[in-house]
Amino acid sequence: MNVLVINAGSSSLKYQLLNPETGDLLAKGLCERIGIDGKFTYKPQIAGKEKLDAVDVAMPTHNEAIKTVLDALVDPKNGVIGSMKEIDAVGHRVVHGGERFARSVVINDEVMKAIEDCNPLAPLHNPANIIGIKACQALMPGVSMVAVFDTAFHQTMPPVAYMYALPYEYYEQDKVRRYGFHGTSHKYVSQRAAAMLDTPIEKLKIISCHLGNGSSVTAVDGGKSVDTSMGFTPLAGVLMGTRSGDLDAGIIQYLMERRGYTIEEMLNILNKKSGVQGISGISSDFRDLENAFKDGIERAGLAVDMFNYGVKKLIGAYAAAMGGVDVIIFTAGVGENSASQRMAIASGLEFMGVKMDPEANKVRGKETVISAPDSKVKVLLIPTNEELMIALDTMNLVK
Ligand code: ADP
Repeated sequence: MNVLVINAGSSSLKYQLLNPETGDLLAKGLCERIGIDGKFTYKPQIAGKEKLDAVDVAMPTHNEAIKTVLDALVDPKNGVIGSMKEIDAVGHRVVHGGERFARSVVINDEVMKAIEDCNPLAPLHNPANIIGIKACQALMPGVSMVAVFDTAFHQTMPPVAYMYALPYEYYEQDKVRRYGFHGTSHKYVSQRAAAMLDTPIEKLKIISCHLGNGSSVTAVDGGKSVDTSMGFTPLAGVLMGTRSGDLDAGIIQYLMERRGYTIEEMLNILNKKSGVQGISGISSDFRDLENAFKDGIERAGLAVDMFNYGVKKLIGAYAAAMGGVDVIIFTAGVGENSASQRMAIASGLEFMGVKMDPEANKVRGKETVISAPDSKVKVLLIPTNEELMIALDTMNLVK
């Protein structure tokens, strides 16, 4: 079975064609600058097939983008499938499913309407996801489509974890609550952890650390998300590449008054100019910060230390929330690649049974147990694979 996975943004669209039964990736790539001019990248994963790297293709709308993807996949010379008939289903990443979607769903008219109802909760993302779905429906009539939500995995959180201490009517009337994001990633790595340890997920207390450009930490008890660090929006939680993470809301009024910022300017600062970028004044990329610190730039070191400290505090908090922890997972760009940051985050947690294996921790991007054999808490490096998770959910729903 082949599933086309689509992640549509407002001017870009990422795609992968994969077989969820075997996990084999056939091709992947992206369309960029949709509605501007159009750049197309195609990376077939079959030997002898040629790739395309940001070539010019006119893409006035997402329809031309999807058409370009499909043409490349079935191209007689460099395609990876014989015809469109070999695409059995399409899995769409959708950012926000609100309280309506606690799991992935087959898309029909009613589901489309419900996704549109969630637009106010993710005004930059959901409308783009919907455009991607409509473009696929127009070009692939009769092919089953599934929506997989970033928020769905976290719908198992109890009210004590998802409520904000605001007047209750903002929850009832305005849907203000913690939703959490990166759900597809946290779900995937939690399932992989259970498989790696050969233990039913129902028996495990897991803390999943998705540390990339955007970062979130999730407590997964018995396979269910019971708390997560991102909130009503992905701005909350640990500080990130350019996002502030949690902060005292009083700072917003104080700075707006002193500096004369509008609310739009203030939110732009919190989303795009804060985090490790803001602290270091150098970069949002952790590799740059490590190098800058080696060159003696103290603030680069402070930014990384603040990030690691924030993640460590969340691990402690979630262990307390679950009454213990069996597994800590590191995933995403930083979690998969930075041995020094994994070590910094896990060190000092010996009191709760975490003992790292410095040799094993040297690994990158490969499923590995990085705790010592006698560590009570297993620490795992697990590369995330949101596309595979989307393809698996899609397969399970359309079969
Ligand atoms: P996104 O949230 O955009 O999906 P990723 O999960 O791809 O982000 O993570 C990207 C981040 O991973 C980069 O900003 C970079 O800081 C970090 N990263 C990648 N490789 C390394 C490395 N070797 N050491 C430290 N950080 C790394």
